Amino acid sequence: MDKIILTGDRPTGRLHLGHYVGSLKRRVELQNSGGFDKIYIMIADAQALTDNADNPEKVRQNIIQVALDYLACGIDPTRSTIFIQSQVPELCELSFYYMNLVTVSRLQRNPTVKTEIKMRNFEANIPVGFFTYPISQAADITAFNATTVPAGEDQEPMIEQAREIVRRFNATYGDTLVEPEILLPDNSACLRLPGTDGKAKMSKSLGNCIYLSDSESDISKRVKTMFTDPDHLRVTDPGKVEGNTVFTYLDAFCRPQHFMQYLPEYGSLEELKAHYRRGGLGDVKVKKFLDAILQEELAPIRSRRKEYEQDIPAVFSMLRQGSETARTVAAETLDKVRHSMRIDYFNDMDLLTAEYGKNE
Ligand code: ATP
Ligand code: MG
Repeated sequence: MDKIILTGDRPTGRLHLGHYVGSLKRRVELQNSGGFDKIYIMIADAQALTDNADNPEKVRQNIIQVALDYLACGIDPTRSTIFIQSQVPELCELSFYYMNLVTVSRLQRNPTVKTEIKMRNFEANIPVGFFTYPISQAADITAFNATTVPAGEDQEPMIEQAREIVRRFNATYGDTLVEPEILLPDNSACLRLPGTDGKAKMSKSLGNCIYLSDSESDISKRVKTMFTDPDHLRVTDPGKVEGNTVFTYLDAFCRPQHFMQYLPEYGSLEELKAHYRRGGLGDVKVKKFLDAILQEELAPIRSRRKEYEQDIPAVFSMLRQGSETARTVAAETLDKVRHSMRIDYFNDMDLLTAEYGKNE
């Protein structure tokens, strides 16, 4: 069986460090590893509209932002197909059939959707499209026969839902769909990168992000005001590393060579943490270290982005081509699905030529 990747992001803003460590960086590594037969990367505009129905302009404007972030990070359109979800209408039809295989109570149990409903104050008025987006995500994944979905931890319930739909579909209509697996980041700090305010998750909707396209000074500002240990008031006070955002980011981004380069008096992150715990190490010093690391990581991404920004029509042309390729693949899956469900009437010669009532 081919090894196929499908992942994506909602065009609700530029991409941030959470996307980068949770999924984007991994996608680039997997793309460059050559270990996958096909890679599809979807800009999920239809999904973004499920909670932005009154603001299509926001979604429209952010398509190019997300595409530029992809290219800047090293997604290569000659090796990965980048496409726009709404330009592949086959996905809607698949979702419509999958809806029959899922119950309302099953959707209500999805912990990620539950949290998101609260975050958006949707409790009393959930748009049906938003409530059912895990089903549409199953359509996105299965349309491309994806075996692997590199994503952050918040996506686990979605992939589980997709797997259930596949099993239910195959059991009901015969073996048709491929069951996907989630590929989580290896580094536990990257599973769900917190926001700079220390809140549970860095998220476009919460405004606690460091964006991949932020300027040098924006990054420094964000790091300076980053949440640390609120009880670590004086340099001499012992500090807490757990739940301290600066240290979580160091867990995610710091590599051994960074010490030699920027903080040679320490040999490892463990040493730095031990000093902070004992007391005598100030937040400012740790933040400066993190700032240097982030600047190093993001500078090449920012400069590549500037290059791609010079030719926006070329980026849209790439997206158009990617969407056409994606549509062809999704249409093949849809044909198979219709055949399995026995709703491909006009291809069924037995049905078309059946002779009823001749011998009565
Ligand atoms: P929104 O607030 O509009 O939902 P978002 O910031 O949550 O946006 P998504 O487009 O929903 O971003 O997520 C895209 C991908 O990035 C998913 O695979 C998700 O798991 C991953 N991701 C997003 N935020 C984080 C994070 N803070 N840590 C790890 N992975 C993340
Ligand atoms: Mg999200």
